[in-house]
Amino acid sequence: MKKTWNKRTNLVHSGNRRSQYNEVSESIFLTQSYVYETAEDAEKRFSEDISKDRFIYTRYGNPTIAMFEDKIATLEGAEAAFATASGMAAVNGALMSVLSSGDHVVAARALFGSCLYILEKILPSFGVKVTFVDGTDIDQWKGAITAQTNVVFFESISNPTLEVIDIKAVSEIARSAGALTIVDNVFTTPIFSNAFSLGADVVIYSATKHIDGQGRTLGGIILGSADYIYNSVEPFMKHTGGTMSPFTGWVLLKGLETLDLRVRAQTRSAFCIAKALVDHPKISSVIYPGLETHPQYTLCKDQMEKGGTVVSFELLGGKEAAFTFMNSLEIVLISNNLGDAKSIVTHPATTTHQRLPANQKERLGITHGLLRLSVGLEDSKDLISDLSSALNKIL
Ligand SMILES: *Cc1c(COP(=O)(O)O)cnc(C)c1O
Repeated sequence: MKKTWNKRTNLVHSGNRRSQYNEVSESIFLTQSYVYETAEDAEKRFSEDISKDRFIYTRYGNPTIAMFEDKIATLEGAEAAFATASGMAAVNGALMSVLSSGDHVVAARALFGSCLYILEKILPSFGVKVTFVDGTDIDQWKGAITAQTNVVFFESISNPTLEVIDIKAVSEIARSAGALTIVDNVFTTPIFSNAFSLGADVVIYSATKHIDGQGRTLGGIILGSADYIYNSVEPFMKHTGGTMSPFTGWVLLKGLETLDLRVRAQTRSAFCIAKALVDHPKISSVIYPGLETHPQYTLCKDQMEKGGTVVSFELLGGKEAAFTFMNSLEIVLISNNLGDAKSIVTHPATTTHQRLPANQKERLGITHGLLRLSVGLEDSKDLISDLSSALNKIL
């Protein structure tokens, strides 16, 4: 019988496969296809279901990618997983593989820009109806989800305003209406995730963020039941081509080995930074789910234990103050990734959420003074001193 390991042991050992050479570090199988002993063998492999150890073409499956999928599936307690070329390939595949014309989706309004594009533009162009709700308002979910709803979609912590959505409550409403709950869990990270035990049916990660955590590759993963992954997601992904590269799979496997240490260290620093900024005279509000002042603080504690690696805050002086502050930082980089070892500051209103019309930005709280800080692995005292000096440069 397989022993049950804790997260950190699973991150290092679960899902690993060794070749005949018994290597310690996982191998990269950089191969497009696989050789058959005989023509009969080829015929047989193409006619059978793709079994876990019988690969035929890397768009369909690959040993390095399989290790990555199995490790995260074990970590999350999912029956199965499919790795994708990017986080957006995962979001698109998770939705498109189960939706068709006439279907209905209910989604939270506060979403990552490209997720919003799929829900607002692409799905409706194929005849899928999408209703948006304020994700923190359970009554709105109750009102929008009907017996005709097929899929419910939200980010467990929204970007960039860090609202925490109640996975248990929303997935209960979805389940009673017969709808599938798909959770984009990027900001929660696999370390603080309890999404499946709270009732989610499908969990998605952009592995580009914390799972790589060192700014190198794009990747994604879809986790769910064996039926959903093997009968919906896999046929859709393998025929439309959003497969992960084996090299990426290998980089991400190495990322997983240190994920727990990195995410916990970054979260500790994020908490210290949030506390240090909270009373600053040039800041009107600090948004961090691990602070008692956050509107969903109790939910955050129950759902994910800690507040995560991202802190958002609003400067009093609007865009001018935000730009002066950003341009004065010496350690923190101006960029738009998150979950990286390097701390990164983003001005959502003019970058990641630039496309949104002014009234929508306002509705989502994406003001010109709002900044998103992804806290990295630097010494938190150095970071706090960098942030304080830059705040002092604002007139
Ligand atoms: C980054 C991100 C994505 C997209 O991931 P890519 O790897 O950039 O394609 C999707 N959802 C959320 C919440 C993200 O932060």
